[in-house]
Amino acid sequence: MKHRPASATFFVDRRPLIGIMPLPPLEDLIACPHCDTLHIDAPVPPGSIARCKRCGVVLFAPRKQALTQLLSLSIAGVILLVAAISFPFIDIDAMGFENQTSVLNAVTAFSEGRGVPLAVAVALFIIVLPMVRLLALIYAIGPLVTGHRPRRGAHVAFAMTEQLRPWAMAEIFMVGVSVALVKIVGLATVTIGPAFWAFVVLVIITLFNDRVMSRLSIWKALEREGAV
Ligand SMILES: [Zn+2]
Repeated sequence: MKHRPASATFFVDRRPLIGIMPLPPLEDLIACPHCDTLHIDAPVPPGSIARCKRCGVVLFAPRKQALTQLLSLSIAGVILLVAAISFPFIDIDAMGFENQTSVLNAVTAFSEGRGVPLAVAVALFIIVLPMVRLLALIYAIGPLVTGHRPRRGAHVAFAMTEQLRPWAMAEIFMVGVSVALVKIVGLATVTIGPAFWAFVVLVIITLFNDRVMSRLSIWKALEREGAV
């Protein structure tokens, strides 16, 4: 990364890049991973955050603790996902008939006949892909946090976390469940189980991670440590 005067950085003067100066060499530009807007690749002082001027996604956040925080939250996410699968999700009591159900019950409920593709899709989008994303992120950034060289294929693992992002739909599942619960509440007594709250916290952690994760910082760290 070449050093440039601070006045040339988008997060200081906030002026659009195109039109105020000739286009710099490609190696001096970075593209926002979310909306592809180009910015000048400039050093960001520790403690500052560089966001995309169009969509607000974090481009660089050179904080000492940023990766540690991301790793801790990802490990917490794995534990919460295991809890969300293992514990009761909701308990429905209607006219004396009590039915306790878990996320796995919800998946296996469709596992016969024509419901099989639906069961596979639910398992994939709600459980498998969120878990793969979290584990791949831990695999990719774990050694960076502990000061070791990245593991083999760390860049592939990190690229995978990005590519799978639209397909890990735990939050959409929770929106669907919440809508269903609102409809059921009038018909039966609904008791929320621990897995429900585990899912809620997992969704908050995932959204928070995706929002604050400085992808370019991680790419640069992987590159610097020889993983790319
Ligand atoms: Zn952007």
